[in-house]
Amino acid sequence: MSLYLYQNQFLPKDQVSISPDDRGYYFGDGIYEVFRVYNGVLFEPEGHYRRLEKSAREVRIPLPYNIERMHQYLVELIQANHIQEGTVYLQITRGTAPRSHPFPPLDTEPVLMAYCNQIARPLSTMEQGITAITADDIRWLKCDLKTLNLLANVMAKQEALVQGAGEVILHRKGTVTECSSSNFMIVKKGEILTHPANNLILHGITREVVFRLARKLDIVYHERAFTIEDLHSAEEAFISGTTVEITPVISVNGRAVGQGNPGPVTRKLQQAFEQLVNSL
Ligand code: PMP
Repeated sequence: MSLYLYQNQFLPKDQVSISPDDRGYYFGDGIYEVFRVYNGVLFEPEGHYRRLEKSAREVRIPLPYNIERMHQYLVELIQANHIQEGTVYLQITRGTAPRSHPFPPLDTEPVLMAYCNQIARPLSTMEQGITAITADDIRWLKCDLKTLNLLANVMAKQEALVQGAGEVILHRKGTVTECSSSNFMIVKKGEILTHPANNLILHGITREVVFRLARKLDIVYHERAFTIEDLHSAEEAFISGTTVEITPVISVNGRAVGQGNPGPVTRKLQQAFEQLVNSL
């Protein structure tokens, strides 16, 4: 049975008991992070901790312990579950209190829970690419915070799956923001375009890794908003994310992107990403 981190204990899943009064359950009143594990090691932990601290600060949920201690716990969790390749899911809610909108009393303890998933890298979709649809981005205006309120993302993703697509590209009045659970980039004239890191997108850790690799490879990138029309005339498109890494998008709403195959810029980035992972 897999071991969970619950507050500051390691427990088998069936001994983790979370109250129905947990504010995460009632209100989605909590924050989370998903980390990648390669070779038994947390990938880009600093970026994830920085984002977690920002989410916590902005929604005013105090972190139950400091980042050094959290890191120690997550390393222990990975070792205890013998994870070589997979993910760590961490969530912290505002705690347990009878249902009422205002924050609970100040001494209410946040509830922290984390567990590991043993999952392989998505090699075949990274190789072949995925198809996507587009949809209105109906989310709130704090998409830079990694909060539990994911209903709009869930609805959009489900619509993609119903239509036989792998992801949904979200837009606000024709301006592309990101996807339901990944960031989105296109390539035009050999240069990468992606939405700026403001309140309308999650500031993806993989997005930052893509920028780092692009700089190394002398690929120009712009953090500049683009439209659905730009997308339709793009040479290439891809998504980035902790679990999807860099995955090509080969068609959108049934229309081929570029030649309808993963393009050369995407491939170069994927190869550089591969080298990075192999160097861990
Ligand atoms: N945008 C959204 C909406 C996400 O849920 C995610 C995480 N899967 C991302 C972007 C990518 O972020 P990261 O690279 O940190 O996983």
